[in-house]
Amino acid sequence: MNIEYIKKKALNEHIPIIMDDTLEIIKKILLEEKPKRILELGTATGYSSICFSNVLNNNVYIDTIELDEERANEAIENINELGLQKSINVIIGNAVDILPKLKEKYDVFFIDAAKGKYPFFLKETIRLSKKGSIILADNILYKGYVMSDYNKHKQRTAVRNLREYIKKSTEDINLKTEILEIGDGLAVSRVLPSE
Ligand code: SAH
Ligand code: MG
Repeated sequence: MNIEYIKKKALNEHIPIIMDDTLEIIKKILLEEKPKRILELGTATGYSSICFSNVLNNNVYIDTIELDEERANEAIENINELGLQKSINVIIGNAVDILPKLKEKYDVFFIDAAKGKYPFFLKETIRLSKKGSIILADNILYKGYVMSDYNKHKQRTAVRNLREYIKKSTEDINLKTEILEIGDGLAVSRVLPSE
């Protein structure tokens, strides 16, 4: 068992794990920020959370939420086999229900689940943030649909909500947001000190 095996297995099963170039950018951000606590929405089989933990020498605490029980259990197995159970905690359930119950603040957030819920995830991650926290949202450009005017495909609810996320996160005066055209699009927001 190693990280390459977990990655290959996920790709074989068409699980949409984080893309290589997106991961490289996030690793850089994590090395600069040295977060103590990370919250991830969308664990899948644990690939991204294990990568985040590893780049920080497993000197971090990650809560990660996964709706699909089978995937969550596979993630827990992977994490246990790699001896990372002290640094990564998998929470099984719907992030929409779990987020409002969380109270402790986090330094970095990685939103990577249920595109139709991104505006709600933004609102909740802001609530759980502190000055200087970073909120990352993967797949924000969703195969280019988000920036195109094509509106008739079956993913239009997701696209509408991703557009709303971009609008809210760029217009919020308490956030400084950049939309990066890497991978499937990554939104990077920093929580500014409020005056
Ligand atoms: N972050 C992972 C990939 C996550 S794929 C990686 O890069 O390795 C997205 C995952 O989000 C899927 O496993 C899906 O089951 C989960 N998901 C979708 N909606 C969710 C929700 N409302 N709450 C929690 N998890 C959700
Ligand atoms: Mg993703």
